[in-house]
Formats: sequence, structure tokens, C-alpha cells
Amino acid sequence: MSQKSEKLIDKKGLRLDGRKPDQLRPIKIEVAILANADGSAYIQQGKNKILAAVYGPKEAHPKHLSLPDRTRLRCRYHMAPFSVQERKSPAPSRRERELSKVIRESLEPSIFLEYYPRTSIDIFIEVLQADGGTRCASITAASLALADAGIPMRDLVAACAAGKIDDTIVLDLMDTEDKKGGADVPVALMSNLNAITLLQMDGTLSLKEFEKAVNLALKGCMKIYALQKEALKAKYMNVKEAAKE
Ligand code: ADP
Repeated sequence: MSQKSEKLIDKKGLRLDGRKPDQLRPIKIEVAILANADGSAYIQQGKNKILAAVYGPKEAHPKHLSLPDRTRLRCRYHMAPFSVQERKSPAPSRRERELSKVIRESLEPSIFLEYYPRTSIDIFIEVLQADGGTRCASITAASLALADAGIPMRDLVAACAAGKIDDTIVLDLMDTEDKKGGADVPVALMSNLNAITLLQMDGTLSLKEFEKAVNLALKGCMKIYALQKEALKAKYMNVKEAAKE
């Protein structure tokens, strides 16, 4: 709900955290940070701190859930009790179940699922600290964790939201902007294939505003895609350095 009394953009056109409307939050990504998972990644996007871990492909359990022609991708998005200001129950909420499904569906098109019939690939996402846009940051990290696990993929999936605050279309909303702004449009993109794998909208936008928000979110996704590739390259540089020692 828009609360007109509290300005989210100042007279200079800057947002509460000093960002310009089309600016992403600072992003830091690391790949292969967990020794015991097949693949992993960590992302900090503004105040968001999110871990993604992947196991598989492995034999599906229970067996009756296995699919004869492809792997079953499973995803669990979970917010730690300490990830938000008021302790969150560790039990999975309706929102977490929904986001688990949304994240899985936005990653599925990027994976050659048919390569591994009767198996499963599990993605575990732990939100350690949340500040708006966690579904997008989770998709970005989970896609890298899949790549780190060596799972054959068509492309990486990068995700980013755009939305409306104080009648301005802005990129990458943080929690306050999400709560007090007028709309939020999360988008996930396979940049190389130019294919959108997630498009949602919360709030109200005119058709023109919606188009502007989607285009801005797509630009954000492309910038994040470049950061994903850098993070993957850094992993292999580390492997190379370790091999020299
Ligand atoms: P997203 O994180 O993808 O934007 P939502 O729009 O559902 O998903 O949530 C927006 C933000 O609201 C979250 O990033 C988080 O900062 C906050 N939030 C979500 N669930 C809770 C909760 N149970 N308690 C407090 N804050 C929450």
C-alpha cells in the first residue's frame, strides 16, 4: 500500500539508501563455498544474505516420486528464524512453500532434465537475512549452485525485480520500498537465450508502467548475469591456483 506521507524518493531523485532509480543494490556472489554439497553459492544483495546448496542428480527417494523420462527438480526455500526483525517460526510457511515452487519453476527451463531420468536434484535455499527481493536473489544463487554441481544447463538464470515507488519505476526494491511502494515485478531471465522464466506482479501498474518495469528488470538481470559469470570464473581461477601449489 502506498503511504503518500512518507517520501521514498528525495528531491534529488535518490532513494532511501541513496540509489538512483535504475541502480542495483551492491551485489557480492561466491560459488563453491560449502564442502559437503555437490554445488553451492552465496549471494549478498544489499542486506539480503542467501545460501543455496544443490545435491544431485541422485537416485530419487521415495522411488514412486521418480519420473521415467527426466529428473525431478525439488526446491526448498527457507527463511532462518533470525532472517527478519521479529523471530520467524522455523516451520515452513505458506509463503515459503509458494516461493519454493516459484523458484523451482523459474530454474527448470534452464536444466537438461531429460539427461537424468529417475533421479532427483535437490536445491536448498537458506535466507540468512532478508531485505526484499529474496526470491530473485535466491534464483540467482541457486542457478549458480546448479552450475557448480556440474549439472548440464542451457544457460544461467539471473533474476531481479523492478517496481513503483512514489510514481517512479525503480530497480531492485529493498524491503521498505517493497512494503511502502505501489508495485513489485520480479523477473528471471536466461540472458543468452533471451528467455524469461519468471514474471510476477504484486500491486497495480498501468500497461506503460508495467512495460517500463519489465524492461528495467531485464536490464538488471543482464547486469546480474555478468556478475554470475564472474563468480563462476573466480571459482575456476581458485581451482587453477590450488593446482599450482
Ligand atoms: P521477496 O523477498 O521475494 O520480495 P516477498 O515480497 O514475499 O518476497 O517479501 C518481501 C520481504 O518481506 C522479504 O524479502 C522480507 O524482507 C520480508 N518478509 C518476508 N516474510 C517475512 C516475515 N515472516 N517476517 C518479516 N518480514 C518478512
